[in-house]
Amino acid sequence: MDDALSLTVLGCSGTYPAPGGACSGYLVQAGGTTVAVDLGPGTFANLQAHVDPAALDAVVLTHEHPDHWLDLPVLRNAFRYVLDLKDLPVYGTAGTERLAATLIEELAPTLVWHTVGPATPVEIGPLRFRFGLTDHPVETLAVRIEAGGRALLYSADTGPGWRPGPLGDGVDVLLCEASLAPEHEGQVQHLSARQAGTLARSLGAGRLILTHIVPGVDEDGQRAGAAATYGGDVAVATTGATFTI
Ligand SMILES: [Zn+2]
Ligand SMILES: [Zn+2]
Repeated sequence: MDDALSLTVLGCSGTYPAPGGACSGYLVQAGGTTVAVDLGPGTFANLQAHVDPAALDAVVLTHEHPDHWLDLPVLRNAFRYVLDLKDLPVYGTAGTERLAATLIEELAPTLVWHTVGPATPVEIGPLRFRFGLTDHPVETLAVRIEAGGRALLYSADTGPGWRPGPLGDGVDVLLCEASLAPEHEGQVQHLSARQAGTLARSLGAGRLILTHIVPGVDEDGQRAGAAATYGGDVAVATTGATFTI
């Protein structure tokens, strides 16, 4: 059993999955506790390459956009009709619950929904979660995850108006969306990689991992753009990669 806080990428495409890829989803683990943070299309397949679904302790969903949660109804059917699993806690916004309830006839007893917002801290085993609103068209929660004295901050989806405040204090790793090519900055409430780099620098983050790059946007260009504004170590998330925080 590994006590260290770790992040495994189940999918990292923005908006829609790249060929052979999956949308946003991450396994966060520490001390034998496993939580899926976002569960976009394709991520439940990849999750099974890393853990037995029965070992999943909870799901945390950042917002209601389909690229962040649409494998939840699929997971529910697997749990309910095939794997005989139930009582999986799901933490998400009221808007996500509303949509989930339209796609999943009965959330209970398979899923136990907890509506969370910026004022709702959550503890799951040794993992401590705190949330903050980002700059995005629907209620969207950035997620700070701490365990063993380490801190990971996940931007979820956000535009440049996001101010993390205390969520950004002493962050070891910033997992930040970088949806946009630089020429598209400001057109929608997402970030370019260089904007992600500026944010990481302002927080003094120890490391920056870019994610949610939209298919077709040049990843090497995104990495270079972020490196130029951040000045530190920049990684680009790839499906299946694990990072020790
Ligand atoms: Zn998204
Ligand atoms: Zn979104």
